[in-house]
Amino acid sequence: MNAYKHVVYWHDTEKVTFEAPLRERVDCDVCIVGGGFTGLWTAYFLKETEPALDIRIVEANYSGYGASGRADGFVTPTIGKDIQALVKEFGLQRALEASQAVGRSILEIGRFARKNRVDAEYEANDYLMVATDAAQLKRLEQDRGLAERMGAAQAEILPREESQAVIGSPAVIGSMRTGGALVNPFKLSRRIARVVREKGVTIYDNSPCLRVEPGVRPTVVTAGGQVKADKEGRSARSDRGPTRGSPWSSTCSRRG
Ligand SMILES: Cc1cc2nc3c(=O)[nH]c(=O)nc-3n(C[C@H](O)[C@H](O)[C@H](O)COP(=O)(O)OP(=O)(O)OC[C@H]3O[C@@H](n4cnc5c(N)ncnc54)[C@H](O)[C@@H]3O)c2cc1C
Repeated sequence: MNAYKHVVYWHDTEKVTFEAPLRERVDCDVCIVGGGFTGLWTAYFLKETEPALDIRIVEANYSGYGASGRADGFVTPTIGKDIQALVKEFGLQRALEASQAVGRSILEIGRFARKNRVDAEYEANDYLMVATDAAQLKRLEQDRGLAERMGAAQAEILPREESQAVIGSPAVIGSMRTGGALVNPFKLSRRIARVVREKGVTIYDNSPCLRVEPGVRPTVVTAGGQVKADKEGRSARSDRGPTRGSPWSSTCSRRG
């Protein structure tokens, strides 16, 4: 069994071709550290908004190497732990806005795939939350009630027989269908990388960021070179080198 411990199924579905590492000193508009979903989508939407931007991505390994290429592939409508926790923490209105944003993002991935002729095995086939005991069923009913109060699209609770027919297990006593999709997350990461490169973004593989020198124009430093940018975005929570444990955020920070 141990032989399978570090095998990621998705990684066998797509061969990796490495981009050249950073071996120069360059200037650009935006430098992003980390080529996972956070960094790649940031680059994609920045380019969609402002095609003239010179964007560079500095990646320690290769795009999709991290959590993005190792995820389970569920594009779910959940945000945070669950809807009840979300409402408790942020209130009905903010929870509704967050849920709608996540709902839109499910469709957005499909739109991105169609627009850019991306095959990432995307299947928008909904998501079934199942209950196998009375307490779980009650929770589904509470979730449904909350969704109604929020003014979100009403989800129907499927009775035992219907749920069992879908799942094929006698253990299921009820279920609720919501929007969702499946995707090959590794292929999706690799394809977003391809699309952003076609849009003119430069990706440097095998170029771990060693430090970011702050300033009006911050500088991302690697062993082989450095990128000075008007704005820098850190999407990497490094598991290696000097950046371990640093409080890097997952958002693009604006400077200057
Ligand atoms: C096992 C697992 C299953 C999951 N399943 C799902 C799921 O089904 N559905 C879902 O929505 N989410 C899932 N997630 C969560 C999802 O994968 C993450 O939220 C998402 O991939 C985070 O993307 P990211 O770009 O922020 O991080 P990452 O994908 O980790 O990207 C960070 C990148 O930064 C690079 N990097 C690190 N340090 C440096 C450095 N010093 N310099 C340069 N580059 C660096 C890494 O190599 C990496 O490529 C799962 C996560 C895991 C771990």
